[in-house]
Amino acid sequence: MRINENYRNIQDSYLFSTVGKKVAAYAASHPDARIIRLGIGDVTRPLCPAVIDALHRAVSEMGTPEGFHGYIPSEQGYPFLREAVAGHYAERGVTLSPEEIFISDGAKSDLGNLLDLFDADNTVLIPDPVYPAYVDANVMAGRRVRYVDATPDNGFLPLPDADLDADLVYICSPNNPTGAVYDHAGLAAWVDYALRRGALLLFDAAYEAFVSDPALPRTIYEVEGARSCAIEICSLSKTAGFTGTRCGYTIVPRELKFGGMSLNAMWLRRQSTKFNGVPYIVQRAAEAVFTPEGWSQCMESIDYYRENARIIAGTLDELGIFYTGGIHSPYIWLRCPGGLDSWAFFDLLLEKANVVGTPGAGFGVNGEGFFRLTAFGQRESTREAMQRFADLARTL
Ligand code: PLP
Repeated sequence: MRINENYRNIQDSYLFSTVGKKVAAYAASHPDARIIRLGIGDVTRPLCPAVIDALHRAVSEMGTPEGFHGYIPSEQGYPFLREAVAGHYAERGVTLSPEEIFISDGAKSDLGNLLDLFDADNTVLIPDPVYPAYVDANVMAGRRVRYVDATPDNGFLPLPDADLDADLVYICSPNNPTGAVYDHAGLAAWVDYALRRGALLLFDAAYEAFVSDPALPRTIYEVEGARSCAIEICSLSKTAGFTGTRCGYTIVPRELKFGGMSLNAMWLRRQSTKFNGVPYIVQRAAEAVFTPEGWSQCMESIDYYRENARIIAGTLDELGIFYTGGIHSPYIWLRCPGGLDSWAFFDLLLEKANVVGTPGAGFGVNGEGFFRLTAFGQRESTREAMQRFADLARTL
């Protein structure tokens, strides 16, 4: 038996595991430290009442002979949820058929699993810095990865140039970690590039619910032509606090045809072979997110995180530290104070202020010298963390 040799080429550990281990080691040796975590992008607000009610109802149903649900009739998801997702897109003027919507157990699985559909010889283009799972999933599959630079000069929103050579392109907007969000023209440039080259865009919309300016696109399908060149991957993790409940959706439009094959049919075939669907009770909970009541409750939590982002940004403004994000995104991406590199600042902030952030270098080489803070904490901890951050930054 020979192993997949590509695993030798991935970094030893996933960024957030490394951060977690460092924090655990520090906590073990400093049991009295009151550590505040603004590092990993996990939410802190509980599930909203509409979701909890839906869960309770679905759990009760499962305990009755009439309401019991076994294997899901379609791995693609129950029609009630696919219709609810289609309704969500319709609010942005995007028409989707329920057959184009695939319910998932979250964006991370599909972002990696979708690679089953593509030849290993494709060249993949990934922005740097970005959510690290894209790179790792492609390296595991032995694909050539090229990077496109996201820097302060392009507002962390790289655009394609004609001689860029790629078959698969990842785009994450609003972006993790930089918080930058493409406008319509920026996404249209990528759609145009993909259509000209016969490339496919993998558009990660995990943070779409944070976009507060109605003029900014929340789905790639707001751009003309995108149905012929883009798959969209989305999640209820950040929209509705489903990080532990696990539900998302992937859109594979019928127009996507490559090599004479329909990607929609291929993905359905792949899912029906390797996936047995999302639990009934979770799909009912997800359906509740898209009711008017559920949506407005979820937006209350998002507003809560937005206020945290304002607190973080306010401190950085006072300190005169350069940052982006925090407006259409729960992430604030800042330049490390004192010219420190990002892991050095991580260690210092942990040791001197007992505050955890994420070192920018973990998101790619262009992340060196930058640092990510999340607005997903609790209000008082966020305030206190930023007070401690300011006290430390003033000494650097
Ligand atoms: N995509 C991006 C850009 C993310 O930041 C995350 C999680 O932090 C995910 C996908 C994963 O989302 P999920 O919880 O749905 O797997």
